[in-house]
Amino acid sequence: MSPSSQRPSTDAATSARMSRQRRADTEPELALRRELHRRGLRYFVDRAPLPGQRRRADLVFPRLRIAVYVDGCFWHRCPEHATDPKNNAEWWAAKLAGNVTRDRATDAALAAAGWQVIRVWEHEDPVDAAARVQAAVQR
Ligand SMILES: [Zn+2]
Repeated sequence: MSPSSQRPSTDAATSARMSRQRRADTEPELALRRELHRRGLRYFVDRAPLPGQRRRADLVFPRLRIAVYVDGCFWHRCPEHATDPKNNAEWWAAKLAGNVTRDRATDAALAAAGWQVIRVWEHEDPVDAAARVQAAVQR
């Protein structure tokens, strides 16, 4: 690991957020998946929509070309809950801005390939989010 990729020390609130953060199967993801499953929808989990693209979508409907991302409020800077860690503020600002830039690049790449992207915030009601996904699937 190069020194620049190491995460600097963080304040308590940020540490708490990071410890809640897992790579996959977060609670908001699971809630959305349960709700979609209940509605009879079937999908692939944690799969790269485009061949050769590294980043995976949380849910994928390959035939319909629909990719669903459940974005964490902190990591993806939700307009309601984004926060700026005070320790190592510059490092965090660059890191989080990079996440958002990558999200938009992912959206653009998928749209260019004819995919529809649905982004769900982790704070969203899973029933509302599932209704949005279902509407796209049935369109
Ligand atoms: Zn939020």
